[in-house]
Amino acid sequence: MQKKIITRFAPSPTGYLHIGGLRTALYNYLYARKNGGQFLLRIEDTDLKRNSEEATQAILQAFKWCDLDYDGSVEYQSRRFEIYKKYIQKLLDEGKAYYCYMSKDELDALRSEQEARKQRPKYDGRYRDFKGTPPAGIEPVVRIKAPQNGEITFQDGVKGEVKFKVEDILDDFIIARSDGSPTYNFTVVVDDALMGVSDVIRGDDHLSNTPKQIVLYEALGFEVPKFFHLAMIHGEDGKKLSKRHGATDVMEYKAMGILPEALLNFLVRLGWSHGDDEIFSLEELKKIFDPHHISKSASAYSFKKLEWLNAHYIKTLAFERLNLELKGLGFDLSAVSRGEFLLDLLRERAKNLLEIIASAKSIINEPNSYDENAVQKFINEKSLKLLAFFETELNQQRKAKEFEDFTNEFLQKHEVKLKDLAQPLRIALTGSAVSPSIFEVLEFLGVGECKKRIQKILKIKG
Ligand code: GLU
Repeated sequence: MQKKIITRFAPSPTGYLHIGGLRTALYNYLYARKNGGQFLLRIEDTDLKRNSEEATQAILQAFKWCDLDYDGSVEYQSRRFEIYKKYIQKLLDEGKAYYCYMSKDELDALRSEQEARKQRPKYDGRYRDFKGTPPAGIEPVVRIKAPQNGEITFQDGVKGEVKFKVEDILDDFIIARSDGSPTYNFTVVVDDALMGVSDVIRGDDHLSNTPKQIVLYEALGFEVPKFFHLAMIHGEDGKKLSKRHGATDVMEYKAMGILPEALLNFLVRLGWSHGDDEIFSLEELKKIFDPHHISKSASAYSFKKLEWLNAHYIKTLAFERLNLELKGLGFDLSAVSRGEFLLDLLRERAKNLLEIIASAKSIINEPNSYDENAVQKFINEKSLKLLAFFETELNQQRKAKEFEDFTNEFLQKHEVKLKDLAQPLRIALTGSAVSPSIFEVLEFLGVGECKKRIQKILKIKG
């Protein structure tokens, strides 16, 4: 029988949730969901100085926005110190770990010596077999007895076989600091093992931790999980993704009017593919995602691609779904009469929800001012005259298509072209020369409102 897939996302709450972190979370989530397994969320908040409740909330908020659910309740490492203590004691009792009484000065001296000899700084094992009386006044750290030579090898689901030479990477590293607090590598191993995590998908910035963690799994007698190390996302210039390339905070994307559907679709493709397909819903991904198809190199972050996906989802999602996001941005189209009609009008060419909100507002609200450049270009004696005729002849409410026929007849009669009327009319109705199909706007606003707005511009500019 295949082992149950249990994955986890284990962020350290030091700030907002980075989009690289969201991609890691997504891959873990999808792998668990695809296999009917479990996806856990564990907050690694043992560094009390660097972690904050605010950052934890930011992570939870981002999960909620993206509709990523996790199994069970959120685990907090800060509440598990007793468990770590127990396992540290176990290793001490079994002689697999030991107290080290080296002072900071001694450690510094050792490091300088090694640096002078151009050696990698590492602990020299001087307390490994210490049997004497410990020096007074020193609170010891606890170190693991790590292998001293040979290789540590594992099969990475992304990178294939990964080999580390013990001499290059290991020493008897610290598992508990002098204040008794456990170190990162130790807590991760204990938690992953006790929580039954079968597969660890994480950024390859953790690759060098993996041999240390394998040493700990083995010392503790736990089964080593399968690892998948993801190549970091980089910008189009090949450099590691940073603020310089654009927003990195997940919630900043929400504020920019990006849909979570688009962001997740975008992130899943940064390092994973399924044929030539580009569009994936979360539901579909839950059926097809396989981390064994993650590529060794991540593709580059491209905001254009994200916008392209966003435009796709804006075009295709249901009114209720889009409106929920709009509400999250403080704008509710269900409170607007014919709001759904208006959304259909606007969604065809919007790249983000902010554009929709701005256009919707410019249509719903009678203009208080007019775009200066547009006025200069399109409003003059001739166009105002044409608007006046149009206002007079506008007689009854119609569908957009019928407004088009009506307008064509009007243009013929006055021997002018659509371009002579369309822009001045747009300015009159919405305040600027950019709006969706003018006939749809006429239908949405209705004859009475259109007449009122044309009269207003005639009065102000006439
Ligand atoms: N807490 C670690 C981090 O935020 C992740 C640990 C892991 O995935 O093993 O980088």
